Amino acid sequence: MAKRSQAVDPTNVIELAGASLPAVRAHLAPRDISDQDWQRYEGYVEEIFGALGLDLDTPGTLNTPERFLRALFDATSGYDGDDKLLTAFPAENGGHADGIASQIIEGPVSFVCLCEHHALPFYGTAHIGYIAGEQIIGISKLTRLVRLYARRFTVQERLGEQIADTLVDLISPRGVAVHIEASHLCTQMRGVEEHSRTVTTFWRGAFEDAELRREFLDEIRSRA
Ligand code: ZN
Repeated sequence: MAKRSQAVDPTNVIELAGASLPAVRAHLAPRDISDQDWQRYEGYVEEIFGALGLDLDTPGTLNTPERFLRALFDATSGYDGDDKLLTAFPAENGGHADGIASQIIEGPVSFVCLCEHHALPFYGTAHIGYIAGEQIIGISKLTRLVRLYARRFTVQERLGEQIADTLVDLISPRGVAVHIEASHLCTQMRGVEEHSRTVTTFWRGAFEDAELRREFLDEIRSRA
């Protein structure tokens, strides 16, 4: 049976096995760009935007290069890590006391990425399913996990792999399923202008089982 994760006692928090994961530790790789460098980058953006046709001498566009760089920096904040991901909760019943594989399914979690080929956004929703081992992780943490890897230059395939593998490292579940559906502006804004959605799924552990996969996909379809 698919189910929503239950509310847990927040005082009963345990350190995760994957707490040393470099990708989620904010203090290991916080980005630090000097004021001098920022100014130089603004000059580059000003030159490029001007050459492309933007009039940078209006009240509305005077600070556009600075705002563009700031927006880009914020949109890629996943590179700074997220140490709030480093806690989880003990699973009730140890997760598998009765031997029945019970899926915990969360989603849709919305996200926006920058495609690493064009540096343009692709955006959509992720659904994450897992079968708990000894630990469970809250919906807010799953949202953080998606954003940790979404707010970067990336591709849809890598996003799903990283979410699945990091969840495995964090809480050692018996299985993980990740379903991602996204629209890519790099194809919509130019060229063929197709408006198709790209769907990718990723399976780990117990989700090798076809019945579990079907249950997961049926559940997220019912939420669409
Ligand atoms: Zn692209």
